[in-house]
Amino acid sequence: MRVETTVKQFKELLEKMKMLEGALGTVYFDALTGAPRGGADSRAKRMGFLQAEIFSLLVSDEMKNCLDTLAAHEDSLDEITRAMLRETRRNYEKEANIPVETVRAYSELTSKAHIVWEDAKASNDFASFAPYLERIIAMKKEMLAYRGSDELPYNQLLDDYEPGQTMETLDVFFAKLKAAIVPFFKELKESGKQIDTNFKHHPVAIEAQREISDMLAEKVGYDLNRGMIRETEHPFCITIGGRDDVRITTHYHEMNFLSSFYSVIHECGHAIYEQNKKDEIAGTILDDGVSMGIHESQSRLYENVIGRSRAFWGYICDELKTKLPDQFAPVTADMLYTATNQVEASLIRIEADELTYPLHIMVRYELEKLLFSGDVDVYDLPRLWNEKMEEYLGITPPDDARGILQDVHWSEGLMGYFPSYAIGSAYAAQFWAYMEREMDVYGLIQKGEFAPITDWLKNHIHAHGLLYTPTELVHRIAGEQLNVEYYIAYLTQKFRGIYGI
Ligand code: ZN
Repeated sequence: MRVETTVKQFKELLEKMKMLEGALGTVYFDALTGAPRGGADSRAKRMGFLQAEIFSLLVSDEMKNCLDTLAAHEDSLDEITRAMLRETRRNYEKEANIPVETVRAYSELTSKAHIVWEDAKASNDFASFAPYLERIIAMKKEMLAYRGSDELPYNQLLDDYEPGQTMETLDVFFAKLKAAIVPFFKELKESGKQIDTNFKHHPVAIEAQREISDMLAEKVGYDLNRGMIRETEHPFCITIGGRDDVRITTHYHEMNFLSSFYSVIHECGHAIYEQNKKDEIAGTILDDGVSMGIHESQSRLYENVIGRSRAFWGYICDELKTKLPDQFAPVTADMLYTATNQVEASLIRIEADELTYPLHIMVRYELEKLLFSGDVDVYDLPRLWNEKMEEYLGITPPDDARGILQDVHWSEGLMGYFPSYAIGSAYAAQFWAYMEREMDVYGLIQKGEFAPITDWLKNHIHAHGLLYTPTELVHRIAGEQLNVEYYIAYLTQKFRGIYGI
């Protein structure tokens, strides 16, 4: 058979998978944004069916033939087909050898574990969740073994979310971060600086907050003609089949307008990434984000580096005053800037400020490593968690609900995922430093001109989708790899300024 025929067949298979994924995404989005409750069971069945169809296409004999044939002719393939081959082979090798019964048993286990976790968190009862966590870890190890990889189990999990990063690279990354941030945080606490945050909890009507969301989306460049903003319990961003349908959600709290304000900017960062892929890959399997860390780098760049900068408040404060004169008349840009950058030892990761956030990730990274090296019993986790919180943040959680049980991830089997949040923040600072060499970024923000910034990100990152691996992509931008020094410099400089030390 001619290679061209196999390429055609391969791309048709991938297109079928992509179509089914789009359908699955639509059902999922619908389920979370107002589909009738009574339809939950039939929806779950429909989603299970679509998932099974996608899986059977990936591990089909037809796909295996395509992968084998194309591997033998890899050098003659164009760049896009080669990248499609690389990504599909990667997914195939991860999934193909796992017995269907194991996949089903794991899916049942995590569905049940999620419910048990919710109850355990509500009743502060780690012991009821522990056996499920133990079982999830055992099953994850069992499924990793089917991949036949020589890598350590936890390195394989890291690779799922952040190809190219391993415990070896991340140990160095986190050790440098820890050495810089832990003593710096103590210094800030001792500075005695008082920050006025009272106005953060003045009521802002939900309708007004919806208008603010639309305004923010428009300012930063999220195209609502190919996107929409809906409301859910937990904010998220979802791409339906490719760059031309990218949706986000938020959650409004009347007494805490900043909650949705920053959720929207964060999700816009994800959405802009998704919408900006180049024509050549639109609608293909390469029309996707390159890794969790790079995706988070975009959301965090918009949310924190831009959205929590003095320049941004200098610009947006006047816009808010015009829109909502009653609420914002007495508030200044400086007040907003310092209030949204108050550093505090807090118990909950998702409420943490920009500086202490990576310390929360470090706690999780260190425990996950222990869980997958077999050096720890799950029943010891609460104690270890609390000790690490004390060591890094100087606080001990009063209960497990605000400690080890706070995050949903482990109940869903998402292990190796947490580091991506810290990697994303570090990449954001790194990309920002590159951009600063080329333009007056804060000057542009102060004038509300976001287009040159978004264009830079589009050209260097967004446009390429999955065409390159994360390490190739980052290397292409500036000839280096993930470098934590930019992040440390960014954080210390910013917070020294705010705290006057
Ligand atoms: Zn995110």
